[in-house]
Amino acid sequence: MMREGSLAPRVRGDQTWQEKAACAAAVEAVKDPDLFFPGTLESEQHVRLAKEICSSCAVREVCLEAALECGDTTGIRGGLTEEERRAIRRRFELRCDPVRVAAALAGKDVYLTRPERQELIRRAAESRTPDLRLARVLKVSEAHAKKLLRRERRADAYGVTQDAVQTTCEAVSA
Ligand code: SF4
Repeated sequence: MMREGSLAPRVRGDQTWQEKAACAAAVEAVKDPDLFFPGTLESEQHVRLAKEICSSCAVREVCLEAALECGDTTGIRGGLTEEERRAIRRRFELRCDPVRVAAALAGKDVYLTRPERQELIRRAAESRTPDLRLARVLKVSEAHAKKLLRRERRADAYGVTQDAVQTTCEAVSA
């Protein structure tokens, strides 16, 4: 199982980790390209074999994270079937990893979940990050970034802080 916040933030679109994929070199997978995409007839045996290969894969966690990030719903990824990934998707979407937030704020193009994005806006407002800088980080217009920062500062002024998000982030980093 993927441990939340345990991976070094990977730049979006980076697929270099695939060079270490066990499935790319496994004889069984080379012989049968559908091994990681089991149909109904052969599924049980295929799933078992594919999972065996995943269990010794050096990039299993990255593979699973990448599949969750891009909403990949087909085949076996990171040692989990589509159904198993569906089961952990909600928890993944609630992830708030402060390391990822800091990396994004520093300009690294990493995937952020909704709580991480919210936490980034909170930190940007707190540190008086310029509108244009936030716009670039979030890939939104400057006007939209300005609105987000204004809303966040107003909420803060009224004491409506992002406690829930902050708590989640702190819990992850603890
Ligand atoms: S975890 Fe499994 S599917 Fe992912 S790269 Fe490794 S062997 Fe392939």
